[in-house]
Amino acid sequence: MIIAIDGPAASGKGTIGKRLAAHYGLRHLDTGLLYRAVGRTMLDAGHKLDDRQAAIAAAQSLDLSRFDEAVLKGAEAGEAASFVSAIPEVRAALVAYQRGFAAEAPGAVLDGRDIGTVICPDADVKIFVTAAPDVRAKRRAKEYAAAGKDGDEATVLADIRKRDERDSKRSASPLKQADDAVLLDTTGLGVEAAVAAAIAIVERIRKR
Ligand code: C5P
Repeated sequence: MIIAIDGPAASGKGTIGKRLAAHYGLRHLDTGLLYRAVGRTMLDAGHKLDDRQAAIAAAQSLDLSRFDEAVLKGAEAGEAASFVSAIPEVRAALVAYQRGFAAEAPGAVLDGRDIGTVICPDADVKIFVTAAPDVRAKRRAKEYAAAGKDGDEATVLADIRKRDERDSKRSASPLKQADDAVLLDTTGLGVEAAVAAAIAIVERIRKR
């Protein structure tokens, strides 16, 4: 079984993806980490984020195991990711890895922005996870605080709005709900309720 989860920043798709993978015994790939690693490579090498050739080279030679996930999860890498991810050749360089991951037995849960639309258009289940921007900002600011990182809610909200706009308006694989994806709005839901709702969606589709 392949489960595609897409949605905007801090919508809860990562947590839901991880929990669905554990529930169904599937592997999980947070595809945002790939773009974050390309962004981080650019920052570490002192490249400007609009240096297309450097970004493409970074994506083509990406080795995810060289990166610390906690560093990739920071705001700086997220912001850099949303610039480099708009470059079509950067996206193209990462397609084979994602599709290969999805294709391996026993199946996988992938979360990102274009999983249901571009990476796995034939996924068995597609869920588009969303939540109100202020709720997403509150959650992300809380995560940063728990990890000892900076990020007051207002700054995080401004960052989220900028990223949503860039991710939705780019021409290369924009953030978009697939026609056959089920919408899951987690605005009023805690983690357990959101996970239960996602499992209910999977079960409903499996019964068809
Ligand atoms: O999901 P996460 O917030 O970690 O993603 C960081 C950035 O990477 C996003 O804002 C987006 O620009 C990019 N991304 C993407 N396609 C994906 C996953 C992430 O463009 N499948």
